[in-house]
Amino acid sequence: RLCGINIDISKRKKLEAELQALAMTDVLTGIYNRRYFTQLLEKEMKRSQRYQTSFSLVMFDIDHFKQVNDTYGHDVGDLVLKEVVSLIKTRIRKTDFFARWGGEEFIILLLNTSYEQAAILAESMRELLQNTSLPQVGRVTASFGVSSYQANESIDALLKRVDDLVYQAKRNGRNCVRVDRY
Ligand code: GH3
Ligand code: MG
Ligand code: MG
Repeated sequence: RLCGINIDISKRKKLEAELQALAMTDVLTGIYNRRYFTQLLEKEMKRSQRYQTSFSLVMFDIDHFKQVNDTYGHDVGDLVLKEVVSLIKTRIRKTDFFARWGGEEFIILLLNTSYEQAAILAESMRELLQNTSLPQVGRVTASFGVSSYQANESIDALLKRVDDLVYQAKRNGRNCVRVDRY
């Protein structure tokens, strides 16, 4: 009987762990989802205010992704999203957090990282994408924004700055990195 109870508890624990992982994860790509990422960002902001640590954000949006779907179909589009995620993962450290921010838009939180270091990393990601031929679709590029946290700034303000930089990168012709100096 005791054995039986133990098994039930361990099953329940396993289920709880699975549910928790699901709540944090984007189903298609397996990286963090927007909701969980926002929680991480709030935590990091508090830590930064308390201990004067710095962190940076890299946001990127795949260029002309609608064309990929229109040309090859939505399923191939989904595969491209997964491929892009696994490529970018090869550039990410264990201490970074990588999330799907929206459809074909992604965001990375880099702990203890200045905007200069983050910009170098973003540029290496951009180059990696540009130089990699993906199955079926070939080359895919993305536009990047890079920004670091300013003391006492709100999360919304930081996200807006980085989002504006992605928009600038798009307007500048795409497949490039835009950085601000904070
Ligand atoms: P831009 O270079 O300006 O970013 O152009 P774009 O075509 O990438 O941007 P737009 O916002 O016009 O289109 C984004 C497309 O991404 C449209 C939408 O159908 C597609 N998309 C969003 N989420 C998914 C998804 O989960 N799977 C697939 N296959 N497509 C998705
Ligand atoms: Mg896009
Ligand atoms: Mg987009």
